[in-house]
Amino acid sequence: MAIIVQKFGGTSVANAECIKTAASKIIKASREGYQVVAIVSARAGVTDELIQMARAIVAEPAPRELDMLLSTGEQVSIALMCMTLHVMGQPAISLTGAQVGIVTDNAHTKAQLQSVETDVITRQLDRGKVVVVAGFQGVDPQLNITTLGRGTSDLTAVALAAALKADLCEIYTDVDGIYTADPNVVPTAVRLDAISHDELLELAGTGAGIVQSRSVELAKKFHVPLRVRSTFSESPGTVVACQVHGFEDVPVCGVAIDLNESRITISGVPDTRGVAAGLVGAIAERNINIDTIVQSFPHQGTADMSLVVKDRDLREALEACEAAASELGAGEVSWEEEIARVSAVGKGMVAHEGIAARMCTALGDEGINIKMITTSEISISVVVDSAAGERALRAVHKAFGLVHLPKATAVTDVPVGFEWSTSDAMEGFHVQSVECDRDQAEVKILGLSDIPGQAGLLLAALADAKVGVDVVLQNSCASGISVTIGRADVERATNAVQSMSPPVTRQAPRVNPRIAKVWMNSVGLRSYPGAAAKVFQVLADEQINIEMIGTSEAQLSVVVAESSADRAAAALRREFKLATSAQPLSDEQNG
Ligand code: ASP
Ligand code: MG
Repeated sequence: MAIIVQKFGGTSVANAECIKTAASKIIKASREGYQVVAIVSARAGVTDELIQMARAIVAEPAPRELDMLLSTGEQVSIALMCMTLHVMGQPAISLTGAQVGIVTDNAHTKAQLQSVETDVITRQLDRGKVVVVAGFQGVDPQLNITTLGRGTSDLTAVALAAALKADLCEIYTDVDGIYTADPNVVPTAVRLDAISHDELLELAGTGAGIVQSRSVELAKKFHVPLRVRSTFSESPGTVVACQVHGFEDVPVCGVAIDLNESRITISGVPDTRGVAAGLVGAIAERNINIDTIVQSFPHQGTADMSLVVKDRDLREALEACEAAASELGAGEVSWEEEIARVSAVGKGMVAHEGIAARMCTALGDEGINIKMITTSEISISVVVDSAAGERALRAVHKAFGLVHLPKATAVTDVPVGFEWSTSDAMEGFHVQSVECDRDQAEVKILGLSDIPGQAGLLLAALADAKVGVDVVLQNSCASGISVTIGRADVERATNAVQSMSPPVTRQAPRVNPRIAKVWMNSVGLRSYPGAAAKVFQVLADEQINIEMIGTSEAQLSVVVAESSADRAAAALRREFKLATSAQPLSDEQNG
Protein backbone atom coordinates (compact mmCIF):
# COMPACT_ATOMS: atom_id res chain seq x y z
CA MET A 1 0.00 0.00 0.00
CA ALA A 2 1.20 3.51 -0.73
CA ILE A 3 2.39 5.57 2.20
CA ILE A 4 1.81 9.29 2.61
CA VAL A 5 3.53 11.41 5.28
CA GLN A 6 1.63 14.47 6.45
CA LYS A 7 3.25 17.09 8.67
CA PHE A 8 1.18 19.57 10.67
CA GLY A 9 2.87 22.69 11.97
CA GLY A 10 2.21 24.53 15.22
CA THR A 11 -0.66 26.64 13.90
CA SER A 12 -2.37 23.49 12.55
CA VAL A 13 -2.61 22.01 16.06
CA ALA A 14 -3.01 25.28 17.99
CA ASN A 15 -6.37 24.36 19.55
CA ALA A 16 -8.99 21.58 19.54
CA GLU A 17 -10.75 23.05 16.51
CA CYS A 18 -7.55 23.19 14.46
CA ILE A 19 -6.57 19.66 15.49
CA LYS A 20 -9.97 18.45 14.25
CA THR A 21 -9.42 20.15 10.90
CA ALA A 22 -5.97 18.59 10.65
CA ALA A 23 -7.34 15.18 11.66
CA SER A 24 -9.89 15.36 8.87
CA LYS A 25 -7.03 15.75 6.35
CA ILE A 26 -5.46 12.58 7.78
CA ILE A 27 -8.75 10.67 7.61
CA LYS A 28 -9.30 11.84 4.05
CA ALA A 29 -5.92 10.47 2.96
CA SER A 30 -6.60 7.21 4.77
CA ARG A 31 -10.00 6.87 3.01
CA GLU A 32 -8.23 7.47 -0.29
CA GLY A 33 -6.30 4.29 0.42
CA TYR A 34 -3.04 5.62 1.83
CA GLN A 35 -1.25 4.38 4.91
CA VAL A 36 -0.77 7.64 6.78
CA VAL A 37 2.11 8.74 8.98
CA ALA A 38 1.41 12.13 10.55
CA ILE A 39 4.17 14.26 12.08
CA VAL A 40 3.09 17.01 14.41
CA SER A 41 4.80 20.07 15.86
CA ALA A 42 4.27 21.56 19.28
CA ARG A 43 1.22 23.79 19.45
CA ALA A 44 1.97 27.34 18.26
CA GLY A 45 3.98 29.24 20.86
CA VAL A 46 4.60 26.25 23.13
CA THR A 47 8.28 25.75 22.29
CA ASP A 48 8.93 29.44 23.00
CA GLU A 49 7.04 29.17 26.30
CA LEU A 50 9.08 26.15 27.33
CA ILE A 51 12.29 28.03 26.58
CA GLN A 52 11.08 30.94 28.71
CA MET A 53 10.22 28.57 31.56
CA ALA A 54 13.76 27.25 31.49
CA ARG A 55 15.27 30.74 31.28
CA ALA A 56 13.27 31.85 34.29
CA ILE A 57 15.41 29.39 36.23
CA VAL A 58 18.76 29.68 34.53
CA ALA A 59 20.10 31.80 31.66
CA GLU A 60 21.96 28.91 30.05
CA PRO A 61 20.07 25.71 30.84
CA ALA A 62 21.96 22.44 30.50
CA PRO A 63 21.36 21.44 26.87
CA ARG A 64 20.42 17.87 27.75
CA GLU A 65 17.72 19.04 30.15
CA LEU A 66 16.53 21.70 27.72
CA ASP A 67 15.96 18.98 25.12
CA MET A 68 14.10 16.89 27.70
CA LEU A 69 11.84 19.89 28.28
CA LEU A 70 11.40 21.00 24.64
CA SER A 71 10.51 17.52 23.43
CA THR A 72 7.38 17.61 25.61
CA GLY A 73 5.76 20.21 23.32
CA GLU A 74 5.45 17.71 20.49
CA GLN A 75 4.51 14.91 22.89
CA VAL A 76 1.43 16.88 23.95
CA SER A 77 0.44 17.32 20.30
CA ILE A 78 0.73 13.66 19.28
CA ALA A 79 -1.46 12.53 22.19
CA LEU A 80 -4.11 15.16 21.47
CA MET A 81 -4.05 14.32 17.76
CA CYS A 82 -4.55 10.61 18.43
CA MET A 83 -7.41 11.27 20.86
CA THR A 84 -9.04 13.41 18.18
CA LEU A 85 -8.59 10.72 15.53
CA HIS A 86 -10.08 8.12 17.91
CA VAL A 87 -13.14 10.29 18.53
CA MET A 88 -13.54 10.64 14.77
CA GLY A 89 -13.46 6.86 14.40
CA GLN A 90 -9.92 6.48 13.06
CA PRO A 91 -7.60 3.95 14.74
CA ALA A 92 -4.30 5.72 15.50
CA ILE A 93 -1.26 5.43 17.73
CA SER A 94 1.18 8.09 18.91
CA LEU A 95 4.95 7.55 19.02
CA THR A 96 7.81 9.72 20.24
CA GLY A 97 11.04 10.01 18.26
CA ALA A 98 12.73 7.57 20.63
CA GLN A 99 9.93 5.01 20.24
CA VAL A 100 10.22 5.17 16.45
CA GLY A 101 14.01 4.95 16.48
CA ILE A 102 14.97 8.37 15.15
CA VAL A 103 18.66 8.31 15.99
CA THR A 104 20.73 11.49 16.09
CA ASP A 105 24.17 12.55 17.20
CA ASN A 106 24.50 13.98 20.70
CA ALA A 107 24.62 17.70 19.80
CA HIS A 108 21.76 18.72 22.10
CA THR A 109 19.36 21.38 20.75
CA LYS A 110 20.88 21.10 17.25
CA ALA A 111 21.26 17.37 16.75
CA GLN A 112 21.71 15.89 13.29
CA LEU A 113 19.94 12.81 12.03
CA GLN A 114 21.99 9.67 11.78
CA SER A 115 19.41 7.01 10.97
CA VAL A 116 15.69 6.37 11.09
CA GLU A 117 14.07 2.99 11.85
CA THR A 118 10.90 2.01 10.05
CA ASP A 119 9.92 -1.32 11.68
CA VAL A 120 7.77 0.02 14.49
CA ILE A 121 5.89 2.32 12.14
CA THR A 122 5.24 -0.24 9.41
CA ARG A 123 4.02 -2.79 11.96
CA GLN A 124 1.42 -0.28 13.18
CA LEU A 125 0.47 0.79 9.64
CA ASP A 126 -0.09 -2.84 8.73
CA ARG A 127 -2.50 -3.10 11.64
CA GLY A 128 -4.58 -0.40 9.96
CA LYS A 129 -3.48 2.43 12.23
CA VAL A 130 -2.53 5.96 11.46
CA VAL A 131 0.85 6.55 13.09
CA VAL A 132 1.29 9.97 14.70
CA VAL A 133 4.94 10.82 15.33
CA ALA A 134 6.40 13.67 17.37
CA GLY A 135 8.44 15.99 15.16
CA PHE A 136 11.64 17.82 16.10
CA GLN A 137 12.99 15.11 18.40
CA GLY A 138 15.16 12.03 18.40
CA VAL A 139 17.40 10.07 20.64
CA ASP A 140 21.19 9.73 20.66
CA PRO A 141 22.91 6.33 20.76
CA GLN A 142 22.96 6.54 24.60
CA LEU A 143 19.16 7.10 24.60
CA ASN A 144 19.35 10.76 25.63
CA ILE A 145 16.47 12.72 24.13
CA THR A 146 17.69 15.26 21.57
CA THR A 147 16.05 17.97 19.49
CA LEU A 148 17.05 18.83 15.94
CA GLY A 149 16.92 22.66 16.02
CA ARG A 150 14.08 25.16 15.69
CA GLY A 151 11.50 24.48 13.02
CA THR A 152 12.69 20.96 12.31
CA SER A 153 9.44 19.02 12.53
CA ASP A 154 9.64 19.38 8.75
CA LEU A 155 12.92 17.52 8.90
CA THR A 156 11.37 14.64 10.84
CA ALA A 157 8.64 14.42 8.20
CA VAL A 158 11.05 14.36 5.26
CA ALA A 159 13.34 11.85 6.99
CA LEU A 160 10.45 9.47 7.65
CA ALA A 161 9.10 9.94 4.13
CA ALA A 162 12.55 9.05 2.78
CA ALA A 163 13.02 6.03 5.04
CA LEU A 164 9.50 4.70 4.41
CA LYS A 165 9.81 5.45 0.67
CA ALA A 166 6.54 7.34 0.91
CA ASP A 167 4.80 8.50 -2.27
CA LEU A 168 4.52 12.03 -0.97
CA CYS A 169 5.35 14.20 2.03
CA GLU A 170 2.74 16.87 2.63
CA ILE A 171 3.73 19.89 4.71
CA TYR A 172 0.55 21.42 6.14
CA THR A 173 0.92 24.97 7.39
CA ASP A 174 -1.05 28.21 7.59
CA VAL A 175 -0.14 29.45 4.10
CA ASP A 176 -1.32 27.80 0.92
CA GLY A 177 2.04 27.16 -0.69
CA ILE A 178 5.29 28.67 -1.82
CA TYR A 179 5.14 32.09 -3.42
CA THR A 180 7.38 33.83 -5.92
CA ALA A 181 8.37 36.08 -2.99
CA ASP A 182 7.23 36.69 0.57
CA PRO A 183 3.74 38.21 0.02
CA ASN A 184 4.21 40.37 3.12
CA VAL A 185 7.00 42.20 1.33
CA VAL A 186 5.87 41.80 -2.28
CA PRO A 187 2.07 42.08 -2.39
CA THR A 188 1.98 41.00 -6.06
CA ALA A 189 3.71 37.68 -5.36
CA VAL A 190 1.92 34.62 -6.74
CA ARG A 191 1.70 31.03 -5.57
CA LEU A 192 3.86 28.57 -7.48
CA ASP A 193 2.20 25.35 -8.69
CA ALA A 194 5.52 23.60 -8.63
CA ILE A 195 9.18 24.23 -7.91
CA SER A 196 12.26 22.02 -7.93
CA HIS A 197 14.15 20.91 -4.83
CA ASP A 198 17.20 22.83 -6.05
CA GLU A 199 15.29 26.05 -6.45
CA LEU A 200 13.47 25.76 -3.15
CA LEU A 201 16.76 25.02 -1.45
CA GLU A 202 18.25 28.27 -2.76
CA LEU A 203 15.14 30.15 -1.64
CA ALA A 204 14.81 28.40 1.73
CA GLY A 205 18.39 29.25 2.55
CA THR A 206 17.85 32.91 1.84
CA GLY A 207 15.09 33.05 4.38
CA ALA A 208 11.99 32.11 2.39
CA GLY A 209 11.19 30.30 5.58
CA ILE A 210 8.14 28.18 4.68
CA VAL A 211 10.02 24.90 4.68
CA GLN A 212 12.99 24.53 7.01
CA SER A 213 16.11 24.43 4.84
CA ARG A 214 17.71 21.24 6.21
CA SER A 215 14.44 19.51 5.33
CA VAL A 216 14.70 20.71 1.75
CA GLU A 217 18.27 19.41 1.65
CA LEU A 218 17.14 16.00 2.82
CA ALA A 219 14.25 15.98 0.34
CA LYS A 220 16.70 16.80 -2.43
CA LYS A 221 19.17 14.14 -1.32
CA PHE A 222 16.56 11.38 -1.13
CA HIS A 223 14.29 12.63 -3.94
CA VAL A 224 11.30 13.03 -1.65
CA PRO A 225 8.45 14.90 -3.36
CA LEU A 226 6.83 17.50 -1.09
CA ARG A 227 3.50 19.25 -1.24
CA VAL A 228 3.36 22.45 0.78
CA ARG A 229 -0.25 23.42 1.50
CA SER A 230 -2.65 24.92 3.98
CA THR A 231 -4.56 23.00 6.65
CA PHE A 232 -7.29 25.59 6.40
CA SER A 233 -8.07 25.56 2.67
CA GLU A 234 -8.51 23.17 -0.21
CA SER A 235 -5.79 24.85 -2.30
CA PRO A 236 -3.55 22.29 -4.03
CA GLY A 237 -0.51 24.14 -2.66
CA THR A 238 2.94 23.84 -4.22
CA VAL A 239 4.58 20.59 -5.26
CA VAL A 240 8.33 20.38 -4.78
CA ALA A 241 10.07 17.72 -6.83
CA CYS A 242 13.33 16.88 -8.60
CA GLN A 243 12.09 18.38 -11.84
CA VAL A 244 9.46 20.80 -13.03
CA HIS A 245 7.97 21.10 -16.50
CA GLY A 246 6.66 24.39 -17.78
CA PHE A 247 9.34 26.78 -16.51
CA GLU A 248 11.79 26.10 -19.37
CA ASP A 249 11.40 29.66 -20.63
CA VAL A 250 11.35 31.23 -17.19
CA PRO A 251 14.81 32.34 -16.09
CA VAL A 252 13.74 33.19 -12.53
CA CYS A 253 10.87 31.62 -10.61
CA GLY A 254 11.37 33.09 -7.16
CA VAL A 255 13.14 35.80 -5.21
CA ALA A 256 14.02 35.98 -1.54
CA ILE A 257 15.66 38.23 1.00
CA ASP A 258 17.69 37.57 4.12
CA LEU A 259 18.02 40.44 6.59
CA ASN A 260 19.76 38.52 9.36
CA GLU A 261 23.21 38.38 7.91
CA SER A 262 26.49 40.22 8.26
CA ARG A 263 29.43 40.43 5.95
CA ILE A 264 33.09 40.09 6.79
CA THR A 265 35.66 41.16 4.21
CA ILE A 266 39.30 40.18 4.40
CA SER A 267 41.43 42.25 2.07
CA GLY A 268 44.90 41.39 0.83
CA VAL A 269 44.49 37.64 1.02
CA PRO A 270 47.72 36.15 -0.40
CA ASP A 271 47.15 34.42 -3.72
CA THR A 272 48.70 31.12 -2.67
CA ARG A 273 47.33 27.69 -2.12
CA GLY A 274 45.92 26.71 1.26
CA VAL A 275 44.84 30.21 2.24
CA ALA A 276 41.14 29.70 1.55
CA ALA A 277 41.23 26.43 3.46
CA GLY A 278 42.93 28.20 6.37
CA LEU A 279 40.52 31.13 6.60
CA VAL A 280 37.33 29.19 6.06
CA GLY A 281 38.58 26.32 8.19
CA ALA A 282 39.20 28.69 11.12
CA ILE A 283 35.52 29.62 11.12
CA ALA A 284 34.39 26.03 10.68
CA GLU A 285 36.43 25.05 13.73
CA ARG A 286 34.14 27.23 15.81
CA ASN A 287 31.15 25.42 14.38
CA ILE A 288 29.86 28.49 12.53
CA ASN A 289 28.06 28.14 9.21
CA ILE A 290 29.10 30.45 6.40
CA ASP A 291 26.21 31.47 4.15
CA THR A 292 28.23 32.78 1.22
CA ILE A 293 31.90 32.88 0.32
CA VAL A 294 33.17 35.17 -2.42
CA GLN A 295 36.70 35.59 -3.57
CA SER A 296 37.31 37.54 -6.72
CA PHE A 297 40.06 37.21 -9.28
CA PRO A 298 43.34 38.17 -7.56
CA HIS A 299 45.21 41.27 -8.54
CA GLN A 300 48.90 41.98 -7.86
CA GLY A 301 49.30 38.84 -5.78
CA THR A 302 46.39 39.29 -3.42
CA ALA A 303 42.62 38.84 -3.48
CA ASP A 304 39.72 39.99 -1.34
CA MET A 305 37.52 37.44 0.33
CA SER A 306 34.05 38.11 1.69
CA LEU A 307 32.16 35.83 4.02
CA VAL A 308 28.50 36.22 4.87
CA VAL A 309 27.43 34.80 8.23
CA LYS A 310 24.32 35.05 10.37
CA ASP A 311 24.22 38.17 12.57
CA ARG A 312 24.32 36.05 15.72
CA ASP A 313 27.62 34.47 14.63
CA LEU A 314 29.33 37.69 13.58
CA ARG A 315 31.36 38.33 16.72
CA GLU A 316 32.83 34.85 16.88
CA ALA A 317 33.41 34.62 13.15
CA LEU A 318 35.28 37.94 13.30
CA GLU A 319 37.52 36.71 16.08
CA ALA A 320 38.33 33.60 14.07
CA CYS A 321 38.98 35.63 10.90
CA GLU A 322 41.22 38.14 12.60
CA ALA A 323 43.35 35.41 14.12
CA ALA A 324 43.54 33.45 10.87
CA ALA A 325 44.17 36.55 8.74
CA SER A 326 47.18 37.59 10.79
CA GLU A 327 48.53 34.06 10.78
CA LEU A 328 48.17 33.77 6.99
CA GLY A 329 49.58 37.22 6.31
CA ALA A 330 46.34 38.68 4.98
CA GLY A 331 45.46 42.35 5.27
CA GLU A 332 42.66 44.13 7.02
CA VAL A 333 39.44 42.51 8.26
CA SER A 334 36.33 44.69 8.08
CA TRP A 335 32.67 43.97 8.61
CA GLU A 336 29.19 45.29 8.04
CA GLU A 337 26.03 44.33 9.90
CA GLU A 338 23.29 46.29 8.20
CA ILE A 339 23.08 44.31 5.01
CA ALA A 340 20.38 42.43 3.11
CA ARG A 341 21.05 39.56 0.73
CA VAL A 342 18.59 39.47 -2.15
CA SER A 343 18.53 36.40 -4.38
CA ALA A 344 16.86 35.51 -7.64
CA VAL A 345 16.54 31.80 -8.30
CA GLY A 346 15.61 29.70 -11.31
CA LYS A 347 16.86 26.64 -13.15
CA GLY A 348 15.90 28.34 -16.42
CA MET A 349 18.76 30.79 -15.88
CA VAL A 350 21.28 28.52 -17.59
CA ALA A 351 19.46 28.82 -20.90
CA HIS A 352 19.11 32.61 -20.79
CA GLU A 353 21.68 35.31 -21.35
CA GLY A 354 21.92 38.57 -19.51
CA ILE A 355 20.09 37.55 -16.34
CA ALA A 356 22.65 39.10 -13.98
CA ALA A 357 22.57 42.24 -16.14
CA ARG A 358 18.77 42.39 -15.82
CA MET A 359 18.88 42.06 -12.05
CA CYS A 360 21.65 44.61 -11.57
CA THR A 361 20.03 47.07 -13.98
CA ALA A 362 16.73 46.84 -12.11
CA LEU A 363 18.53 47.68 -8.87
CA GLY A 364 20.48 50.50 -10.49
CA ASP A 365 17.25 51.98 -11.87
CA GLU A 366 15.90 52.00 -8.31
CA GLY A 367 19.01 53.86 -7.17
CA ILE A 368 20.12 50.90 -5.05
CA ASN A 369 23.86 50.36 -4.68
CA ILE A 370 25.11 46.78 -5.00
CA LYS A 371 27.83 45.86 -2.50
CA MET A 372 28.49 42.29 -3.48
CA ILE A 373 27.46 39.85 -6.22
CA THR A 374 27.65 36.06 -6.46
CA THR A 375 26.15 33.69 -8.96
CA SER A 376 25.62 29.96 -9.24
CA GLU A 377 24.08 27.94 -12.07
CA ILE A 378 20.61 28.65 -10.73
CA SER A 379 20.89 31.76 -8.57
CA ILE A 380 22.16 35.30 -8.38
CA SER A 381 22.61 36.95 -5.00
CA VAL A 382 23.44 40.55 -4.29
CA VAL A 383 24.14 42.30 -1.02
CA VAL A 384 22.64 45.75 -0.51
CA ASP A 385 22.10 48.05 2.49
CA SER A 386 19.46 46.51 4.73
CA ALA A 387 17.37 49.70 4.54
CA ALA A 388 17.03 49.18 0.78
CA GLY A 389 16.50 45.41 1.02
CA GLU A 390 12.72 45.17 0.68
CA ARG A 391 12.64 47.75 -2.09
CA ALA A 392 15.33 45.73 -3.88
CA LEU A 393 13.26 42.56 -3.54
CA ARG A 394 10.22 44.26 -5.10
CA ALA A 395 12.32 45.67 -7.94
CA VAL A 396 13.80 42.27 -8.78
CA HIS A 397 10.39 40.56 -8.57
CA LYS A 398 9.08 43.09 -11.05
CA ALA A 399 12.11 42.93 -13.37
CA PHE A 400 11.61 39.20 -13.91
CA GLY A 401 7.87 39.50 -14.46
CA LEU A 402 7.09 37.00 -11.72
CA VAL A 403 3.47 38.12 -11.60
CA HIS A 404 2.84 36.23 -14.85
CA LEU A 405 4.35 32.78 -14.66
CA PRO A 406 3.24 29.98 -16.97
CA LYS A 407 1.59 26.81 -15.62
CA ALA A 408 4.04 24.30 -14.25
CA THR A 409 3.84 20.66 -13.26
CA ALA A 410 6.20 18.65 -11.10
CA VAL A 411 7.77 15.35 -12.08
CA THR A 412 7.57 13.37 -8.86
CA ASP A 413 8.99 10.06 -10.09
CA VAL A 414 12.22 9.01 -8.49
CA PRO A 415 14.92 9.20 -11.18
CA VAL A 416 16.04 5.91 -12.67
CA GLY A 417 19.17 4.55 -11.08
CA PHE A 418 18.70 6.35 -7.75
CA GLU A 419 19.92 4.19 -4.89
CA TRP A 420 18.95 4.81 -1.31
CA SER A 421 22.11 4.58 0.72
CA THR A 422 21.87 3.66 4.38
CA SER A 423 25.60 3.44 4.89
CA ASP A 424 26.15 7.16 5.52
CA ALA A 425 24.59 9.28 8.22
CA MET A 426 21.28 10.62 7.00
CA GLU A 427 22.25 14.28 7.33
CA GLY A 428 25.55 15.91 6.52
CA PHE A 429 27.52 17.35 3.65
CA HIS A 430 26.86 15.32 0.54
CA VAL A 431 28.30 16.03 -2.89
CA GLN A 432 26.14 14.94 -5.80
CA SER A 433 28.34 15.91 -8.73
CA VAL A 434 31.61 17.59 -9.62
CA GLU A 435 31.78 19.28 -12.98
CA CYS A 436 34.44 21.11 -14.86
CA ASP A 437 34.46 23.65 -17.68
CA ARG A 438 37.95 24.13 -19.07
CA ASP A 439 37.23 26.60 -21.83
CA GLN A 440 36.93 29.66 -19.69
CA ALA A 441 38.70 32.94 -19.22
CA GLU A 442 38.39 35.42 -16.38
CA VAL A 443 38.02 39.12 -16.84
CA LYS A 444 38.28 41.61 -14.04
CA ILE A 445 37.00 45.14 -14.32
CA LEU A 446 38.50 47.56 -11.82
CA GLY A 447 38.02 51.25 -11.18
CA LEU A 448 34.21 51.36 -11.07
CA SER A 449 32.61 54.21 -9.15
CA ASP A 450 30.84 53.29 -5.93
CA ILE A 451 27.43 54.56 -7.06
CA PRO A 452 24.25 52.74 -8.08
CA GLY A 453 23.89 51.42 -11.61
CA GLN A 454 27.51 50.62 -12.51
CA ALA A 455 27.25 46.81 -12.34
CA GLY A 456 24.06 46.92 -14.39
CA LEU A 457 25.65 49.10 -17.10
CA LEU A 458 28.73 46.91 -17.30
CA LEU A 459 26.86 43.59 -17.43
CA ALA A 460 24.36 44.99 -19.92
CA ALA A 461 27.22 46.05 -22.21
CA LEU A 462 28.58 42.50 -22.09
CA ALA A 463 25.12 41.04 -22.72
CA ASP A 464 24.58 43.40 -25.67
CA ALA A 465 27.87 42.22 -27.16
CA LYS A 466 26.55 38.64 -26.87
CA VAL A 467 29.21 37.66 -24.37
CA GLY A 468 27.99 34.66 -22.40
CA VAL A 469 28.85 35.56 -18.85
CA ASP A 470 29.02 32.59 -16.52
CA VAL A 471 30.20 33.41 -13.00
CA VAL A 472 29.87 37.00 -11.78
CA LEU A 473 31.58 37.94 -8.55
CA GLN A 474 32.06 41.18 -6.71
CA ASN A 475 33.34 41.50 -3.14
CA SER A 476 33.31 45.23 -2.91
CA CYS A 477 33.54 48.14 -5.26
CA ALA A 478 37.28 48.47 -4.73
CA SER A 479 38.00 44.89 -5.71
CA GLY A 480 36.11 45.26 -8.98
CA ILE A 481 33.75 42.94 -10.78
CA SER A 482 35.11 39.59 -11.96
CA VAL A 483 33.40 37.47 -14.54
CA THR A 484 34.18 34.20 -16.21
CA ILE A 485 33.33 33.91 -19.89
CA GLY A 486 33.91 31.47 -22.72
CA ARG A 487 37.53 31.71 -23.89
CA ALA A 488 36.38 32.50 -27.42
CA ASP A 489 34.58 35.63 -26.17
CA VAL A 490 37.57 37.40 -24.59
CA GLU A 491 38.18 39.92 -27.33
CA ARG A 492 34.52 40.72 -27.72
CA ALA A 493 34.24 41.23 -23.97
CA THR A 494 37.21 43.57 -23.65
CA ASN A 495 36.08 45.57 -26.68
CA ALA A 496 32.59 45.84 -25.26
CA VAL A 497 33.89 47.21 -21.96
CA GLN A 498 36.31 49.62 -23.59
CA SER A 499 33.80 51.03 -26.04
CA MET A 500 31.20 51.81 -23.39
CA SER A 501 30.00 55.37 -23.62
CA PRO A 502 30.05 56.92 -21.14
CA PRO A 503 32.72 54.60 -19.75
CA VAL A 504 32.20 52.94 -16.34
CA THR A 505 35.94 52.73 -15.79
CA ARG A 506 39.14 54.23 -17.16
CA GLN A 507 41.13 51.06 -16.52
CA ALA A 508 41.58 48.39 -19.15
CA PRO A 509 40.00 45.04 -18.23
CA ARG A 510 42.45 42.49 -16.86
CA VAL A 511 42.25 39.10 -18.49
CA ASN A 512 43.41 35.67 -17.51
CA PRO A 513 42.67 33.59 -20.59
CA ARG A 514 43.44 30.10 -19.33
CA ILE A 515 41.28 29.25 -16.41
CA ALA A 516 38.71 26.58 -15.70
CA LYS A 517 35.64 26.53 -13.54
CA VAL A 518 35.15 23.54 -11.30
CA TRP A 519 31.85 23.36 -9.54
CA MET A 520 29.95 20.95 -7.38
CA ASN A 521 26.32 20.40 -6.70
CA SER A 522 25.78 19.37 -3.12
CA VAL A 523 23.51 19.34 -0.13
CA GLY A 524 24.55 20.72 3.20
CA LEU A 525 27.09 23.28 2.06
CA ARG A 526 25.61 25.89 4.37
CA SER A 527 24.12 23.73 7.08
CA TYR A 528 27.22 21.86 8.09
CA PRO A 529 30.22 23.87 9.26
CA GLY A 530 33.38 22.72 7.61
CA ALA A 531 31.85 21.62 4.32
CA ALA A 532 33.48 24.35 2.23
CA ALA A 533 36.72 24.15 4.22
CA LYS A 534 36.93 20.47 3.37
CA VAL A 535 36.67 21.21 -0.35
CA PHE A 536 39.38 23.89 -0.14
CA GLN A 537 41.61 21.54 1.84
CA VAL A 538 41.32 18.83 -0.82
CA LEU A 539 42.53 21.37 -3.40
CA ALA A 540 45.30 22.66 -1.14
CA ASP A 541 46.52 19.09 -0.58
CA GLU A 542 46.72 18.74 -4.36
CA GLN A 543 48.89 21.90 -4.44
CA ILE A 544 46.18 23.71 -6.38
CA ASN A 545 45.75 27.46 -5.99
CA ILE A 546 42.17 28.74 -5.99
CA GLU A 547 41.73 31.98 -7.91
CA MET A 548 38.06 32.70 -7.44
CA ILE A 549 35.36 31.30 -5.17
CA GLY A 550 31.61 31.67 -5.27
CA THR A 551 29.11 29.75 -3.19
CA SER A 552 25.36 29.46 -3.02
CA GLU A 553 23.11 27.18 -1.01
CA ALA A 554 23.75 24.13 -3.14
CA GLN A 555 26.73 24.99 -5.27
CA LEU A 556 30.37 25.74 -4.69
CA SER A 557 32.38 27.00 -7.65
CA VAL A 558 36.09 27.61 -7.82
CA VAL A 559 38.18 29.00 -10.61
CA VAL A 560 41.60 27.44 -11.00
CA ALA A 561 44.32 27.53 -13.66
CA GLU A 562 43.27 25.50 -16.66
CA SER A 563 46.29 23.25 -16.24
CA SER A 564 45.12 22.07 -12.82
CA ALA A 565 41.41 21.69 -13.63
CA ASP A 566 41.40 17.95 -14.30
CA ARG A 567 43.45 17.28 -11.22
CA ALA A 568 41.10 19.41 -9.13
CA ALA A 569 37.99 17.64 -10.40
CA ALA A 570 39.54 14.20 -10.00
CA ALA A 571 40.66 14.90 -6.42
CA LEU A 572 37.21 16.14 -5.47
CA ARG A 573 35.49 13.16 -7.07
CA ARG A 574 37.83 10.85 -5.19
CA GLU A 575 37.24 12.59 -1.88
CA PHE A 576 33.46 12.52 -2.26
CA LYS A 577 33.34 9.01 -3.69
CA LEU A 578 31.85 9.92 -7.04
CA ALA A 579 32.41 7.98 -10.22
CA THR A 580 35.36 9.52 -12.02
CA SER A 581 34.58 11.35 -15.22
CA ALA A 582 34.60 9.79 -18.66
CA GLN A 583 37.65 11.92 -19.44
CA PRO A 584 40.94 10.01 -19.38
CA LEU A 585 43.21 10.77 -16.46
CA SER A 586 46.17 12.96 -17.26
CA ASP A 587 49.70 11.59 -17.01
CA GLU A 588 50.23 13.49 -13.82
CA GLN A 589 47.37 11.63 -12.12
CA ASN A 590 48.44 8.26 -13.44
CA GLY A 591 51.98 8.83 -12.33
N1 ASP B 1 8.32 22.99 17.92
C1 ASP B 1 9.57 23.18 17.27
C2 ASP B 1 9.82 24.68 17.11
O1 ASP B 1 8.99 25.50 17.43
C3 ASP B 1 9.67 22.45 15.97
C4 ASP B 1 8.70 22.87 14.89
O2 ASP B 1 7.71 23.53 15.14
O3 ASP B 1 8.94 22.53 13.74
O4 ASP B 1 10.86 25.07 16.67
MG1 MG C 1 7.64 25.31 11.70
